[in-house]
Amino acid sequence: MLACYGWLRVRLSNKPALLILTYHRILPADSPERAVEQPGMVTSPQALENHIRFARKLGAEPVHLSDWLDRNRQGKPLPKLAVAFTFDDGWQDNYQYAYPALKAQNAPATIFLVTRMIDTDKTFWPEQVLSLLTSKTIPENDPSFDWLRRHMPEGAAHDTSRPLSLLEADDVIARLKSLEDATILASLQQVYTSHPDMAPAETSRSILSGSELTEMAKNGLVMYGAHTRHHYRLNRLKDEKTLKEEIVGCLQDLKSLGEAAIPVFCYPNGDITGKGEALVSDNYQAACTTKTGWNLAGCNPYDLHRFNLHDGNSHSNRTLLATIGRGLL
Ligand SMILES: [Zn+2]
Repeated sequence: MLACYGWLRVRLSNKPALLILTYHRILPADSPERAVEQPGMVTSPQALENHIRFARKLGAEPVHLSDWLDRNRQGKPLPKLAVAFTFDDGWQDNYQYAYPALKAQNAPATIFLVTRMIDTDKTFWPEQVLSLLTSKTIPENDPSFDWLRRHMPEGAAHDTSRPLSLLEADDVIARLKSLEDATILASLQQVYTSHPDMAPAETSRSILSGSELTEMAKNGLVMYGAHTRHHYRLNRLKDEKTLKEEIVGCLQDLKSLGEAAIPVFCYPNGDITGKGEALVSDNYQAACTTKTGWNLAGCNPYDLHRFNLHDGNSHSNRTLLATIGRGLL
């Protein structure tokens, strides 16, 4: 039903419409990295390939997000139905697995970068927490884990003698979001200092490098938008100086990347504050939210809606259409 509804809505729109599809990580089904990633973050390369093919079948024209926004701003004609592929966070697997799929089908894309993570071996705190909780048991009565223990599954439900399952750990991530990002990162650092065996092992780099960014931008296929400097959720920031650095500083970093940089902001975790919104509209031409839905000609460019996709909600054409249909209800 939802798939039929989705199909009808996108085919029969009487105003030009833009579907923005959001992806995070693109990982093959057998990738070991899936074991330490939130399921809602991962799409297989095959599913992405299918989405590109199926979007064209539906009559959607793949466009650069910034091109559609420029035409919309200038009141120029827009395709009846357009689709923009976007990727959040700047994962290295976007180069390894998404870029070949985009190139093969000549589908333009925008990657929203966390600029101070580029060319580092850092990873985000949810991945660090997932890795810790699914591989180690948390020692009882050790104060360096108090912050984590407070957000663990309820007492009896969790047996402290074993590591958590991926889904249990995913639940802890959701609970930890009540804390400020910098607090979580500092607490993790403390754990690694007092328990060096728990520090992340030397693994492969998870974030894009400068040379990968240059290569993907070379033929104009991939462009880059802003996703803050450190992926701090804006509503958790206490001081205005940091807020400004995360929003305005990120654009400065992005501009140093050259022509592929576009003044489009993407809110980490979709979290918005009044002051943050003002800084975004003063410095950027548009902003992506985590609100679900499509964008019609004449829409507010600072309130772009998207469809967040992952294997769980878009592994087949039917589930993809149902996800779109649900988002258009
Ligand atoms: Zn993000």
